[in-house]
Formats: sequence, structure tokens, C-alpha cells
Amino acid sequence: MTTTAVLGGGISGLSAGYYLLRRFGKPLTIYEASPRVGGWIRTEWHKERGFIFETGPRTIRPKGVAGANTLELVEQLKLPVKPIRSSHVAARNRMLYAKGQVCMLPNSPKGLIATVPPFTKPLYRALLHDLTTGGTVAKNEDESIYSFAERRFGKEIADYAISPMICGICAGDAREISVRFLMDSLFEKEQKYGGVIKGVLYSRLNKNEDKDKDVDRPIDEPSNLYKQAVQEKWAMYSLTDGLEQLPRALRKYLGEHDVNVQLSSRCNNLSFSSDGARLGLRNAELPVSHVVSSLPAYQLAPLVRQQHPSLCAQLLEIPYVDVVVVNLQYNSDQLLKQNGFGLLVPPVENLPVLGVIFDSCCFDMAGNTILTVMMGGKWFEQWFGHQPSQKELRDTAQQHVRKILNIKEEPTFSRVHLLHKCIPQYTVGHKRRVQQIRDYIRNYKLPLSLCGAAYDGVGINDVILSARRQVELLPMPQTH
Ligand SMILES: Cc1cc2nc3c(=O)[nH]c(=O)nc-3n(C[C@H](O)[C@H](O)[C@H](O)COP(=O)(O)OP(=O)(O)OC[C@H]3O[C@@H](n4cnc5c(N)ncnc54)[C@H](O)[C@@H]3O)c2cc1C
Repeated sequence: MTTTAVLGGGISGLSAGYYLLRRFGKPLTIYEASPRVGGWIRTEWHKERGFIFETGPRTIRPKGVAGANTLELVEQLKLPVKPIRSSHVAARNRMLYAKGQVCMLPNSPKGLIATVPPFTKPLYRALLHDLTTGGTVAKNEDESIYSFAERRFGKEIADYAISPMICGICAGDAREISVRFLMDSLFEKEQKYGGVIKGVLYSRLNKNEDKDKDVDRPIDEPSNLYKQAVQEKWAMYSLTDGLEQLPRALRKYLGEHDVNVQLSSRCNNLSFSSDGARLGLRNAELPVSHVVSSLPAYQLAPLVRQQHPSLCAQLLEIPYVDVVVVNLQYNSDQLLKQNGFGLLVPPVENLPVLGVIFDSCCFDMAGNTILTVMMGGKWFEQWFGHQPSQKELRDTAQQHVRKILNIKEEPTFSRVHLLHKCIPQYTVGHKRRVQQIRDYIRNYKLPLSLCGAAYDGVGINDVILSARRQVELLPMPQTH
């Protein structure tokens, strides 16, 4: 009998389980080290007071192939969604805290010609810069997203648009993160046509150009929920009882279809032979035919160290950062001067805060103001050292909320979470690194597939799609 094991019960491992079940049926087991499923997706319910705290992700984007794929899953699991439409204040208003003030980012074409703080020039000047600057002479394989933005659009855009965006997405330093992480296609166009705008215009004229790209290929007939999201112009969405409903519903679905989800089951070793793999679990060795690992790369690395030290070393080259998440609840809903999704703090401001999310502007929180302060990331150690106390972290968050948002009230309720090594960093060379890791696995014919946030994108949509694509690459068993 052929058996498949999935390592990790976060959203990618559960999704891998779902797609494996759909493609091959049983037998299949998911091994999760902790006593719960969901990994970084975690919702704290305060139903009696009408609000929730999300300690990890809080919204999902419906756009693109990956967005459509998640909506298909959400529809199949019959989960109730809370959409935010593009006309909603949380979709329109995004802010920066820069140069001592909260600045609203331009959200209409008018913003291109006006000078909007913190920028000192109208944004069309950045576009002119790109049009009048030649392309790089030597073809680059990769560079940092900061250096790309600075070359094409100038230093102000790199400092006040790109760097805070990178903080918001992966808590990282734009000077280290690969341009291919978010701007792969713009970078390719610049390399090919000598400019971003030129490249975009040429490829619009030559519509077939992107046709063959795997990432743009629709997976299925769009689900009804995806059609609804397009028709109603959703900018993002969550689930009625918070995002943790998604891993919980997946676990329930898998359980109902006889997939075994074993909690408190840490895999501590992984070895391979010509007829399969062996998982080390507590004191036992379990033979399986194939392993799908959804573990963070640094957690998978020690499992393969003994038999494949070079694979272990390559996995360890993917760095991770620590993020502090502080959830705050205030009894009044009249505290924010400006409504919106929240604000980001550009790293040039040199503050421990990466950003503040205005949760109660996004979703109804029954008359409470709910804020989430994100801190640390790439700069965690610089600000907090090795073992900061909960009090120190809470005080730092509150002090910055007071200063930035001018909120004098004390929160009624708060929670501090230190998320250790929670977000992988796609630093310059990441794409090549992942290719080498997958080449190694292919060359040694290891019965191992890799999915999860370490490889093909760090958002929820990315990791669900990554799980699906890895499962779809597996050969169908031979029937005799
Ligand atoms: C603070 C924060 C905010 C975010 N905000 C958003 C957002 O708003 N929108 C969005 O789309 N994305 C967001 N993300 C990203 C999103 O949360 C992640 O992409 C996603 O949760 C990663 O899921 P995963 O299953 O790949 O990894 P994980 O959640 O890390 O799951 C891995 C699982 O493997 C288990 N495990 C580890 N070692 C072993 C072992 N040896 N044996 C067995 N099991 C093991 C772990 O316990 C864990 O449950 C955010 C992330 C963070 C940290």
C-alpha cells in the first residue's frame, strides 16, 4: 500500500492534505508538532465583548490565479466570508507615518500631479525618471527591490513607497529583499525593454507576451465566489469568525474524509531509500512512500541533515525574522482621527514599529477600537535584544500608538505575541536558491515535495496554491 505523509498542519500542510485527498484519495496522514492546526493563523475570540484579535494574518486578497484558487477552497468548505469592497474606507485609505506626521497615500490619479507628503515632488516625476533613465547595461539575474526602485523611480519612492510596503508584507528590509519577490514581471520588462513604463507599454501592445507564463494560467473554471468577488469589487476579505476558521474547517473536512490529522506529533528525522521515506516520530520509524513537507525551511533542515547535509545547508540559507504582534482594545470607537486600513512606518524613520492595522475600521467590532501593532521584523534584535519582556513590548507598542495616533486613553485589554521566525525572507537570489533545492531533490530522486511559505510566496493565497501545484506534479499511481 502506498502512503503519503504531510509534515505540518499549518494552512499549507492542510491544503496539501486536501489536494492529495482530491487527487489520490487515501491513505494519508498529516503530522503536526503542536496541539492545534493553523500554524501562524490564529484568532482569539472575545465574543461576549463583540470583537476578535487576529494574532497572525487577518485579510486575504481575492485577485489573480492564487486569489481565485483560495476562493474556490473557501466555497467548497462553505465558509461565510466578510468582504471589504474597493469603495470601503479600509480599501481606499492607507497611510504612512513619516517625518513626524500621519500621511494619507494618494488613492486617485489626482495624487500623481499633486505633491503629497511625505513626498517632496509629485509622483509623475518618478514616472518621468523611469522614462528618461536607460536600462542596466549588464543583464542582471537579480537585485534588491530597493535598488531597483531607486534606479527606476528615485530614492524617495524607494524610501517612502517600496520600503514600507516590504515591511507590511514580510517585515523585511527592502535593501535585502529580491526584486523578484514582488516585481518579477516589472523587472523582466525593464531588463528586456530598458525601462518599466516602456516595458509595460510594449507588452500591452504585444498581448501574447505573458501568455505562456505558468503563474497566469487559470487553474479551473472560476468558482461562484470568485465571480461574486469580481462583480462586487472586493479588495480583500476575511471570514465571519476570523481567519482561523479556514484551517479549522479544513481539518474538519479532512477528518470527515478519513484523513488522519495527528496533533502533538513532531517529526524529528527524515531519511530516504529507494522504496520511499522513513519518518522519525517519537521513538518510532514510520515507512511511507512519499512526503510532502510544508515545514518552514529552517525546521525541515535538521530533519534531513544526517543523510543530506548539503540539502540541509541550502534550506538554512533561507532566513527568517521575528515579529511582535500587540493587539489592543479600547472601549470607545471615536479614537481614530482618520479611518483606513492602517499605517506603515518607513524604515528610514528608525522606529521599532513596522505598522499599525486599524482592525475596527476593516470589520465591525461592536463599538470597540481594535488596533494591531506590528514591531521588529528585520530590526527585531536591534530594538529588543534577545529576550524582551512582555511588559517592555506592550509599553513600546502603547507608547508609539500614543505618539503616532495621538490616542491618550489606555487600552482596556491587550495581548502581546512574540512570533519567533515567523516570516521567511526572499532575499536577493531566492528564486535561484529554491530552484537549486528542488533540483537537488529531483537529482537524488527523493520522494519529497516542498510547499509552504519558504518557497513560492509568503501570503495565504501563495501557500495554498503552492501546495496544490506540488500535489499536481506528483505522478498518478500505475493501475495494473
Ligand atoms: C504576523 C503575520 C501576519 C500575516 N499577515 C498575513 C495576511 O494578512 N494575509 C496573508 O495572506 N498572509 C499573511 N501572513 C502570512 C501567512 O500567515 C503565512 O503565509 C501562512 O500562515 C504560512 O502557513 P504555512 O502552513 O506555510 O506555515 P506555518 O503556519 O508556519 O505552519 C507550519 C506548521 O508546521 C508545524 N511544524 C513545525 N515543525 C514541525 C515538525 N518537525 N513536525 C511536524 N510539524 C511541524 C508547525 O507547528 C506549524 O503548525 C502573515 C504572517 C504573519 C506571521
